[in-house]
Amino acid sequence: MVLRRLLINRRNYLNNSINMSLGILDEEIVIASHNSGKIKEFRDLFKKYKIKIKSASDFNIVEPEETGPTFSDNALIKARETMKGSGQVSIADDSGLCVNALDGDPGIYSARWAGEDKNFSRAIDIIKDKLENKKVKKTKAHFVCSLAVVWPNQQYKVYEGKVYGKISFPPRGNNGFGYDPIFIPNGYKITFGEMDPSEKHSISHRANAFNLLKLELLNDR
Ligand code: IMP
Repeated sequence: MVLRRLLINRRNYLNNSINMSLGILDEEIVIASHNSGKIKEFRDLFKKYKIKIKSASDFNIVEPEETGPTFSDNALIKARETMKGSGQVSIADDSGLCVNALDGDPGIYSARWAGEDKNFSRAIDIIKDKLENKKVKKTKAHFVCSLAVVWPNQQYKVYEGKVYGKISFPPRGNNGFGYDPIFIPNGYKITFGEMDPSEKHSISHRANAFNLLKLELLNDR
């Protein structure tokens, strides 16, 4: 009897330490962004798990410069800064479009190609001009989303999701944002800009990254 109790205690202890080493999410997490659209998207994603979402603005955290060479590095820079400023589990994402014929550009510079005024028709024109200069008519492309989670003990995890497809001109559709009007995901004939948002959200790079996170941190298959 005593032995059985000892074994149960030992099993519970091991389960706890496994959970701790995975850094299971707290009831409240901070999103490393000041963008209200992004915060809403995260709030929707975590609603089902009863996790409360705060934003970097709630702690007056200034967004750091994205100086990393990869999406994951930049997501980690943002999540670490927010964890330092809030003292709480923090999550950041970094995402963008990689065009094969442009050697992966705009990639981590996807937001920057649109300039300070976030003019995505200009960013789309830059892609068009560069492809014309290279005399490329068709090219594959993919979106990437890196999600970084940082805990107050400095532990971290990064999840990366992708969605593959091709670039198509002229731009089509008024849904979505950014480069959506020129991206056709594999298996479809319409651009993300023409797609119903709920369908895009079920196959997107962001959905794929979040699915990996929830599998590991929220134990949700
Ligand atoms: P971030 O906010 O620094 O991650 O910038 C991501 C940039 O990548 C956005 O401003 C868009 O230009 C582009 N991007 C990322 N995800 C999408 C998407 O789902 N559709 C269209 N453009 C996207």
